[in-house]
Amino acid sequence: MGKVLIIGAGGVASVAVHKCCQYPEVFEEICIASRTLSKCDALKAKLDGGKTKIQTAQVDADHTDEVIALIEKFKPDVVLNLALPYQDLTIMDACLATGVHYVDTANYEPKDEAKFEYKWQWAYRERFEKAGLIALLGSGFDPGVTGVFSAYAQKHHFDEIHQIDIVDANAGDHGLPFATNFNPEINIREVSAKGSYFENGKFIETEPMSIKRVYNLPEIGPKDIYLLHHEEMESLALNIKGIQKIRFWMTFSQSYLTHLKVLEDVGMTSIEPILFEGREIIPLQFLKAVLPDPATLAPRTKGKTNIGCIFQGVKDGKEKTYYLYNVCDHQACYHEVGSQAISYTTGVPAMIGTAMILTGKWNTPGVHNIEEFDPDPFMDMLNRFGLPWQESFQPELID
Ligand code: NDP
Repeated sequence: MGKVLIIGAGGVASVAVHKCCQYPEVFEEICIASRTLSKCDALKAKLDGGKTKIQTAQVDADHTDEVIALIEKFKPDVVLNLALPYQDLTIMDACLATGVHYVDTANYEPKDEAKFEYKWQWAYRERFEKAGLIALLGSGFDPGVTGVFSAYAQKHHFDEIHQIDIVDANAGDHGLPFATNFNPEINIREVSAKGSYFENGKFIETEPMSIKRVYNLPEIGPKDIYLLHHEEMESLALNIKGIQKIRFWMTFSQSYLTHLKVLEDVGMTSIEPILFEGREIIPLQFLKAVLPDPATLAPRTKGKTNIGCIFQGVKDGKEKTYYLYNVCDHQACYHEVGSQAISYTTGVPAMIGTAMILTGKWNTPGVHNIEEFDPDPFMDMLNRFGLPWQESFQPELID
C-alpha cells in the first residue's frame, strides 16, 4: 500500500521497523535512515527476507536539505520521525518541501532549553493544511495511546470528561544501580524539569518530584508515583471538551531518585555548556555517554509496565469513573522483537499512527494531535499488534 521513510535507528525505531515488517500489506517498502548508517544496516540485516522491502541510508536530520534529498530519492508517502525531538522542525520543513505526510512521537524541543511545548509545531498548521498534508504529532504511548484512550473514553463512555489522571508505571527491573529506559538525555531533561498540572483553564507549576502518590495498579501492585509535566496535557486541555483537571504521574524508585539527586547536585544533568580540557562540553551529553545504552537493558529487564488513564466525568447525568490501561511484559517484548517494554510501547503506536495515514483511515490535512482523530481503528490495531488494552474501575489509591 505504501512507502515509509523512518528516521532514527535507536530503541523505538527498532520496534517500529519490526512492527512495520509484521504488516507488509500496508508497509510495502521502508527506508531506515539515521546519522549512523551501521545501526540502520544492522536492523535491515535482522529483518531482511520478509515481504516488506528494506533500504537504508545515512542522513543528518538536523539539516533540512539532507532530508529533502533523501525524500526525493526514496519517494515515501509518509516520514516517520523516530530520531530525537530536536529534529522535529527540520523534518517537518522537509515534508512540506516535498509534499509528504509526517508522524512523530515527541514534541519539538530546542537543544538549549528543556521546554516541552507544541507551539513550534502548531505554528505549521496552516502550511500543512494548505499543502493537503497530515502532520500527526505524538504517536507513541504517552503522548500517543493516552490521547487515543482519551478520545475513546470521550466517544464511548462519557457525555463530558472532567478529569484525567495519566498513570505511567514501570515495574521493570534491569538489576543495574542507575540507567534510563529511553534516551538518557531526553529522559533526564524531562524528569528534572519542574512539574505541572492543568486545572480550571491554566497550568500550575510544581517543584520537581514534590507531589507523590501510591497506587495499587493491576498486575504490578503498589507503586510510588510522582507528578510530572508531560506534553500531552497541553493538547488534551484543548481537545477534550469540558475538561477541568489533567495530571500526569510516573513511577520512580527511591534508588533512581537518589542517584538523580546526586547527579543534579554535582552539576551532571546541566545543559549549560562548560569548558573541559579546552573543549566545550554539555554535562548531560557527557553523562549520556557514560550511562548504559537503553537498548542493552532489554535482555536483563524483567517485570511489567502498566500505563493508562483514569477518567472522571458524567454520563447520562451520573458521575462516572473509567480506567483504561495496557500492561506490557518486558521479557515478552524482548522475545518478540529484542527490545524492552518502553521502546515497545512507543514503537508499536508509531507504526499504527503511520498505518492510519497510509490506509487513509485518518485523512484530515493539517497538524494534529492524536486525540483529534477517530480512536476506534487505532484501538483495534493496538489489540492486534501487541498492546491489548483493558478497562476497569479506578485503581486503589493507597496513599
Ligand atoms: P535513541 O537515542 O535510542 O535513538 C535515537 C535515534 O535517532 C538514534 O538512532 C540516533 O542516531 C538518531 N539521531 C539522533 N540525531 C539524529 C540526527 N540529527 N539525524 C539523524 N538521526 C539522528 O532514542 P529512542 O529510540 O529511545 O527515542 C526516540 C524518540 O522517541 C525520542 O524522540 C523520544 O523522545 C521518543 N519517545 C517517545 C515516547 C512516547 O511514549 N511518546 C517514549 C519514549 C521515547 P545515533 O545512533 O547516530 O545517535
